[in-house]
Amino acid sequence: MVRRVSIFGATGSIGENTLDLIARRPEDFDVIALTGGRNIDRLAALARKHSACIAVTAFEDCYQPLAEALAGSGIEVAAGPDAIAAAAERPVDWAMSAIVGAAGLVPGLAILRQGATLALANKESLVAAGPLVMQSARDHGATLLPVDSEHSAVFQALTGEDIARVERIVITASGGPFRDWSTEEMQQATLAEASAHPNWSMGQRITIDSASMFNKALEMIETREFFGVPPEQIEVLIHPQSILHAMVGYCDGAMMAHLGPPDMRHAIGFALNWPERAELPVARLDLAGLGALEFSKPDEGRFPALRLAQEVMAAGGLAGAAFNAAKETALDLFIGDHLKFTDMAGLVERTLDKISADFGPKQAEITLDNVLSMDHLARVTARELAQSAH
Ligand code: NDP
Repeated sequence: MVRRVSIFGATGSIGENTLDLIARRPEDFDVIALTGGRNIDRLAALARKHSACIAVTAFEDCYQPLAEALAGSGIEVAAGPDAIAAAAERPVDWAMSAIVGAAGLVPGLAILRQGATLALANKESLVAAGPLVMQSARDHGATLLPVDSEHSAVFQALTGEDIARVERIVITASGGPFRDWSTEEMQQATLAEASAHPNWSMGQRITIDSASMFNKALEMIETREFFGVPPEQIEVLIHPQSILHAMVGYCDGAMMAHLGPPDMRHAIGFALNWPERAELPVARLDLAGLGALEFSKPDEGRFPALRLAQEVMAAGGLAGAAFNAAKETALDLFIGDHLKFTDMAGLVERTLDKISADFGPKQAEITLDNVLSMDHLARVTARELAQSAH
């Protein structure tokens, strides 16, 4: 049966890998919507190659170039966040949520409202609005599948098991390019150094988040929201080879581990083929060739993002929305050379402290409006705090 698919964030690392798999079996898929940001040439090329029904850019000033690039193709063109949300209302069977940042939340919710299958790479949706996303999937009979390699690994290690028998979930982290750097060395880290991941080929933002371990902090919260386990059951283990992605520990002491080469096409392909398994163009593991896999505990002193994730989970409510938005703002400032690498965590922490002091510990309801308001407030607060520090 031909499946209708849409890819949100088609021009990114996850989007391109998804389309790579789709292109290998074109007879199985009918591409409905492809969305991107500013990489208009690539979006137009992908829309033509996959004969998409519609191509949407997130930015209104990119409408004209996109329309020109697709002139005569018969492919519809649209621009702006509302147009992306509208594209997510077009009926599909399967969609990939691979927009980077909180901008992925609204289109993801629209796919879930259709009752379709949503492959979720956009972890920010779960960090900012986990209960809303999970409830929406339940309310509309939608299927939500994780695409983060660690969460796909946990999902697979849970197959056929009872979540009530789970004692702990261990997700691994490579430790990124600064795994063995001192805090003093990290203070001088440049954008180029932070953008070079030793094992994974990913978009720039998640690569820098891996260097600061904010990515792993987001993933701890993602684990909590996706699998519904308490924070104290979630552990992070440093594993420089990025071969073992996650383990699920059961009440009888057994640990079910998932291993595979660091290639996102495994997790993407798993979500694309689920509930079946199909052959994927990923390298096969040669453990004897690798010789050894190493593991160690993360250093929360050098990587405070992990402690912040614990505090966010303990706070609950809209703390995740504030955390994600403050983190995105700190990252923008680092990329723009307005903040040192090691000052990102401090800015996020001060933003959370200020918001919590101004609004007290009350637990606001996690509605879309409240999440978006908190996202806005945290971005404004983080920018003000960064400016006043100068
Ligand atoms: P990229 O930066 O490579 O791609 C991001 C995509 O989002 C691009 O299509 C980009 O468009 C688009 N985009 C950027 N800004 C906006 C916006 N404001 N509104 C709508 N679309 C926008 O990111 P990745 O593919 O690396 O990551 C995507 C998501 O997947 C993230 O949530 C990330 O955390 C998650 N993820 C990624 C992994 C990876 O291996 N890359 C692994 C696990 C999770 P354009 O490029 O045209 O500007």
